[in-house]
Parts: sequence; structure tokens; C-alpha cells
Amino acid sequence: MFVDQVKITVQAGNGGDGCCSFRREKFIPKGGPDGGTGGKGGDVVFRAVGNLSTLLDLRYQQLYRAEHGKPGSGQLKTGKSGKDCVIQVPVGTVVRDHETRDVLVDLTEDLQEFVIARGGQGGLGNEHYKSSTNRAPRRADPGEPGQHRVLFVELKLLADVAIIGFPNAGKSTLISKISNARPKIADYPFSTLVPNLGLVKVGDYQSFIAADIPGLIQDAHLGKGLGTRFLKHTERTRLLVHLLDFSIASDRDPISDYETIQNELKQFSEDLYGKPQILVANKIDHPEAEAKFAEYKERLLAINPDLFVCSSVTGQGLKQLVFKIYAMLEQN
Ligand code: GDP
Ligand code: MG
Repeated sequence: MFVDQVKITVQAGNGGDGCCSFRREKFIPKGGPDGGTGGKGGDVVFRAVGNLSTLLDLRYQQLYRAEHGKPGSGQLKTGKSGKDCVIQVPVGTVVRDHETRDVLVDLTEDLQEFVIARGGQGGLGNEHYKSSTNRAPRRADPGEPGQHRVLFVELKLLADVAIIGFPNAGKSTLISKISNARPKIADYPFSTLVPNLGLVKVGDYQSFIAADIPGLIQDAHLGKGLGTRFLKHTERTRLLVHLLDFSIASDRDPISDYETIQNELKQFSEDLYGKPQILVANKIDHPEAEAKFAEYKERLLAINPDLFVCSSVTGQGLKQLVFKIYAMLEQN
């Protein structure tokens, strides 16, 4: 299973202190206690959102604080409550206590919210303590501290984009070039094959997960089990990027490579086969590649107008490819 794991610390806001105050007005001697209650401290809240797919943002910010409540004041004024701190995470995120690993919440639905650290209650003001026997209490309570927690946040990753192509077409290299975080791969069921998976960041806030499908051609001998087990991780896949190797000028025909992979894919999963594709003429940095591409360009465009020319070695075309992938994910 692909798992992304992040440790974060959350600190809810403290409650505001209660106020000790006495009413002072002209012509009203001994006005009585009027100290208000402190405001409640802000909560730290998790919110699951459907359009996020990674925990990447939590890697960049590891401490989350909510605001403290304001103290109460005279004339029975209650202090202002502290603002909550909302942490947005993808649907499917599981939050555990870092030490015990107990599950605190499993966020399974879009817009589901859960208070993970409660803000402190505000302290009572002295007005609260007045009674028939004590008309001028001087007691006011401090606010309660907000909850502090160290959390272990975990997400099972599902690929948004699958990268397909012949062995050596450059799938693993491409993923390593466009992704800037490597999630931990835990408990992966096939020991001989480590799938390549990367979190790709687009701009400041968006990201997607790319994976290459192991075993389309070279691992057929491992049997069908491999394919069906892997398919669980492609439930979310909405797009395929099909790499064609342009580095070998003589004996490979990109069109027949394309067709072979399409056939394999169809047998592997009808569902994936039906997904939209982007074609990539890859390894264009190679000496003969430009000339070879010129020869095939028209035929490839006829197969699929979403055709990109890339090199993971020089970086040519990679940025455009990432933006195109993201734009197509948004539409599908
Ligand atoms: P995979 O089997 O599809 O995952 O392919 P790999 O990513 O392992 O790449 C296979 C070989 O092609 C490796 O030797 C890479 O260094 C090489 N390669 C990958 N991308 C490029 C590229 O853009 N240009 C060139 N010249 N070589 C590449
Ligand atoms: Mg590979």
C-alpha cells in the first residue's frame, strides 16, 4: 500500500481570563461585581476536502495553533472567542495519536469536520461569584489551557495519473523529475517490484499523484494477481500519460509500440483503457530523436492531438506537461 505519513503538532487556544471588576457609576456607591467571563480559546479542526489528494501541505507546515480567547472585562463583557484553526486534508486521511497510534478520526466524507484539539473555556468573572453572603467577591478564574497534541497523520495514496509505456520508455525517470516528494512506500505486496509513485506539486496549492503501472509488459510472467492488486491503487486514476521512446532511431517503431501497449492495457483493465490520454514523445534530447519525431509527428497527432515532446534529461517540455496533466485532471 502507498502511504503518506506526516507528524504534526496542534495547539488549541487558551481560554481568556475572567475579569475582576466592580461597577463604578456616579451616585451608585458599592456598584457590585461586574467582571465578565473570558472568551473560549479557538479549536484546531480537521476538514476533509474532496479536491485535495495529498498531505504535501502538512509537510511544509508542522505546527498548527488556534487563537487564544480574549479576557473578560468590566460591565459584564465576555471576552471574544479565539478563531479556530482549520487544517484541510484529503478525504481518506486517518489521524492518530503520535505516541499510542490510536486512531482519533478517520475522515471519510467530503467536508467532514472533526475537532482534534479543543480550545480552553474562558475563566469566570467575579460577577459569577456574587451571592447573598458575598456581595463583593474578588475571585475571577484564569482561562483553561487549550489542548496540545502531537499527531500522526496518514493517507493511503491513490494515483490520479498513471504513466504507461514500454519498459525503458522513461516512466520512472519522468516521475522522479516532476515530483518533489517521495511518499513512504509501506507494506507493498510485491517484493520484487517497487512501484514508482510521486507527489507532483503544481503552483502553490495544487498537487496530484503520478504512478507507473508495473507489469504491463515485462512482468506478465508474474501473473494476473499483480495486475488486480495494483488496480486498487488506480481507482482514482483519471488520466494516462503514454510515453513513447524516441531515443533509438533504428529498430523501434513508436506507432507499433503504442499499439502494443494499448492492447496490453486493454487486457489489464478495460476501465483504465477508456481513460483520456496524453501522448509523450520522450527522450527528445537524444541525438536522433528530433529527426525521428519529425517523421512520426503527423501520424501521432492523428492518433491523439494531446502530444508533448519531452526530455527528463534536459527538462524540456516537463513544465508544460505537468500543467497540461493538471488541467486535464480538473476537467475529468
Ligand atoms: P522505465 O522502465 O519506463 O521506468 O524507464 P526508466 O525511467 O528506468 O529509464 C530507462 C532508461 O532511459 C534509463 O537508462 C534512463 O536514464 C533513460 N532515460 C529516461 N529518460 C530519458 C530522457 O529523457 N532522455 C534520455 N536520453 N534518456 C532517458
Ligand atoms: Mg521503471
